[in-house]
Amino acid sequence: MNLPLLKAQLAQQGLCILSLIDKHVSVPQGHTLILVGHGARGFWPVFKQSQEYLDQQPDPINRWSQRLGQKLATTLQGSALFPFTGPPYHPFLTWAQTNGDSAPSPLGLHFHRQHGLWHAYRFGLIVNTKTLEHHAHNPPPPAPRPCTDCAQPCMTSCPVGAFSSAGYDVTGCRTYVAQNPNSGCAQSGCIARLACPHTPPNLVSSSHGGYEAAQHQYHMAVFVKQEG
Ligand code: SF4
Ligand code: SF4
Repeated sequence: MNLPLLKAQLAQQGLCILSLIDKHVSVPQGHTLILVGHGARGFWPVFKQSQEYLDQQPDPINRWSQRLGQKLATTLQGSALFPFTGPPYHPFLTWAQTNGDSAPSPLGLHFHRQHGLWHAYRFGLIVNTKTLEHHAHNPPPPAPRPCTDCAQPCMTSCPVGAFSSAGYDVTGCRTYVAQNPNSGCAQSGCIARLACPHTPPNLVSSSHGGYEAAQHQYHMAVFVKQEG
């Protein structure tokens, strides 16, 4: 399988390559680490038809990710790894950052070169570089970092001030969302995240194929039920 074919197969599942890492201390020589996930588009329409979403059992996104990741790893005669198995947890964000594909924002979320704040990692694949008919390369030039020269509206938009120099007040956020099920956050996604002017609206807006309200509501409902 070559790289374009892998990308095409991933796209059928609403997924894409968020980082392609050929040279890193964590990657065995002669191998490539492929970090797979999704941006604002494409994932939800596929996932909501999946057996994992429909079976009403716990952790559907993780189980869906494991099924697809393991299947692809087998096809590629490689191995799969996941951001949610641990401890210890695999440092997906650090890997992508080291490769120049993303950088931390003041929110703590990473800003990705193509998807801004709206992306998530689902699995990684370690494959022999030759398997992909792909030539190893050095990391790409670092992604632009819009947070550096930004007025940071993301930090002042939260209705309960959950973001500050002290970090993210996860309890305050969760309490607000739980107690205000009709709020913009619960219905349409995190207001602070949506306030970022450097994420093109057509990546996130449902009218442009981005997040559906149901996707925001699903993630918020899962978040509210989490502990800690
Ligand atoms: S609003 Fe500015 S500081 Fe906040 S994530 Fe977007 S670019 Fe970065
Ligand atoms: S979801 Fe709402 S309450 Fe929570 S951090 Fe985002 S803006 Fe604040």
